[in-house]
Amino acid sequence: MSLCANCLALIPDTPGVAGHPALRIVDTQRRRIPRSVTETLSTFRCTDCGAMWRYREAKDDGPQGWARLTTETASEGS
Ligand SMILES: [Zn+2]
Repeated sequence: MSLCANCLALIPDTPGVAGHPALRIVDTQRRRIPRSVTETLSTFRCTDCGAMWRYREAKDDGPQGWARLTTETASEGS
């Protein structure tokens, strides 16, 4: 899968980076990490190139911001 220009320009692993207009949110999960903070994981799909992205938001030292999800182990077809 090749990424569109908007996805190529998206800066991963940096908090506070805005998405791009072709991203559509498909899922949001909020969960409390035991003895720690609450994290918010939002999943987006690019309507231009089909790339899947996850945005993680949490007040801890973990990875935050955008990360691209690969679908190698996910369902095939569609
Ligand atoms: Zn894209």
